[in-house]
Amino acid sequence: MRLGDFEIHLLRAGGWRSDGGATFGVVPKVLWERQKPADEQNLIRTDCIGVVVRHRGRVIVCETGIGSKLSEKRARQVGVWQPEGLLVALRKLGLRPDEVDVVTSTHLHWDHAGGFTRRSPSGEVELTFPRAKHFVQQAEFDFALSPDPRSRAGYYDDDILPVADAGRLEFVSGEAEVMPGLVLRQTGGHTPGHQLVVFRAAQDLACVMTGDLVGLRPHLRVPWIPAADLDVLRSLEEKARLLREAAEHRWLLVLGHEPEQPAGYVDAAGSWSPEDTLED
Ligand SMILES: [Zn+2]
Repeated sequence: MRLGDFEIHLLRAGGWRSDGGATFGVVPKVLWERQKPADEQNLIRTDCIGVVVRHRGRVIVCETGIGSKLSEKRARQVGVWQPEGLLVALRKLGLRPDEVDVVTSTHLHWDHAGGFTRRSPSGEVELTFPRAKHFVQQAEFDFALSPDPRSRAGYYDDDILPVADAGRLEFVSGEAEVMPGLVLRQTGGHTPGHQLVVFRAAQDLACVMTGDLVGLRPHLRVPWIPAADLDVLRSLEEKARLLREAAEHRWLLVLGHEPEQPAGYVDAAGSWSPEDTLED
């Protein structure tokens, strides 16, 4: 779809199966399972949703999914599917990875930054997008390199360090317009440097990548917060602010993990109107 001078394509970069309890935190299962049925292991489908954006001759990728570097054992444990989804989607748009100018993600967890790097045919880890600047929050980078014990399993050095070593990381703190119309806004909450990625054509014409601030559609309810979030009160506050602004300005939201119609608009009462024209 077109949004001002942005051309936005939805990116379905595969996904995995996450524990329903972890996904909905203190919300009782009898409430969430009506909307997100769990399998016999209590797992629910979790897609990795991103976008590929063309803007004034530049190509921007936001969210890169899990990628294909996980060991077979780990990939099986978490039920990964379509780890090559990112590259397949780019190919469908007629794009090569070395044509991507800018890469960003809402945070550096393995299911968002996994596609920053990949294995070369000889088995070495290499940058997926060798020419791109990769924008990350300084606080997220710092935390990813020395996480607390509970957060350690969420980050892989192989996703991040090769990009840093190649001098392809660009650091942001707080809120910044890193290119005309591309705004990064730190929310914290889920992780210290979690951010919203905003494609802003005008005040009332914007597309916001919500990451894990609103991962699935049931998370549009402000109190429904994943158990993994480090700072729950911050998540509550930032989510309430985002939903208020999104309703007021009619921003297009793209939910970070929602399998069914992940793009749409929310109104002041919290109801959701899907927007399907980002799908190719
Ligand atoms: Zn996530």
